[in-house]
Amino acid sequence: MNKMFFKHNFKDIAGQRFGRLFVIKYHHTDNGGNAYWSCKCTCGKISIVMGSHLRHGKSTSCRSCGTKYGRDSDKKTEFIRSKIKKYVTRGKI
Ligand SMILES: [Zn+2]
Repeated sequence: MNKMFFKHNFKDIAGQRFGRLFVIKYHHTDNGGNAYWSCKCTCGKISIVMGSHLRHGKSTSCRSCGTKYGRDSDKKTEFIRSKIKKYVTRGKI
């Protein structure tokens, strides 16, 4: 019997795809109770990703792909831009 599997209550997402990442299998659970998964990126790299990040769309590629495509920084810039836009609009009117 595997105590790890008995103790932790996580959603089995093995076999699912999140963006560029394909979840291969469960990897481990950290001290905070977060389940991590072995994922294969479309570039062929294996990365260990937190399950909640996958489900919430925070991680959709391995680190090198994330850097390469600048997905996260694009999102952040867009977010800041929209904030500034709102602020400017309010300030002027
Ligand atoms: Zn990749």
